[in-house]
Amino acid sequence: MMKKLIAGNWKMNGSLAANDKLLKDILAGMGQATCEVAVGVPAVYLAQCQILLAGTSIDLASQDISAQESGAYTGEISGAMLKEFGVRYAIVGHSERRQYHGETDEVVACKAQRALKCGITPIVCVGETLAEREAGKTDEVVKRQLAAVIHTNGHCISEVVVAYEPVWAIGTGKTATPEMAQQVHAVLRAQLKAASEHADCIKLLYGGSMNAANAAQLLAQPDIDGGLIGGAALKAQDFLTIIAAAA
Ligand code: PEP
Repeated sequence: MMKKLIAGNWKMNGSLAANDKLLKDILAGMGQATCEVAVGVPAVYLAQCQILLAGTSIDLASQDISAQESGAYTGEISGAMLKEFGVRYAIVGHSERRQYHGETDEVVACKAQRALKCGITPIVCVGETLAEREAGKTDEVVKRQLAAVIHTNGHCISEVVVAYEPVWAIGTGKTATPEMAQQVHAVLRAQLKAASEHADCIKLLYGGSMNAANAAQLLAQPDIDGGLIGGAALKAQDFLTIIAAAA
């Protein structure tokens, strides 16, 4: 059976002191986790976290990756650079990047491709806004967002992780019910199956106010293979409870 993946997304939070304490607390409480665990840290802290996580079972993730290989792209961070800091996953297409940085499906697809070329697994985020859900467009939106990645991807798509993150549930405390999340995950799984014989090996994470109280129910759904966790990833005990729920 596929191992679940619990990935934290710290967003623009942390400090040298806070990161040190958080990771040490998580490592101390984790024991032998039977799921995979990763933390998506701000780029400036990758070097610090690489050292803290060396030799542990927690993988490092970046919160973004440049679509470009190298060159005159001020402020961008390339896949090769991320790789030097031991990054295993790159979150791409997070709704905050789509919303505040104008990232289109095409840009997200380029970033996912660039990650794969650098040996980094992209965690591709898809998800509908509240208006799109209320207009009955959830399936259409997530399928369009996923299709952009699948269809420009020359690599084996089993190297991709997909995160369904309804925009209205991110950081709002409003979680999709397990049934709502499962429904969308089943749609995504069917789309992946139509595109790849490896679809059953592709992890489909749920993200959107997943927390210590609701994780077990969400993670019990047949097509939910893990979680992408924002707020609750900043509290060691909450993150540990979610990791335990994924065991
Ligand atoms: C996220 O940022 O990907 C996320 C799911 O955030 P939160 O858990 O805080 O809703």
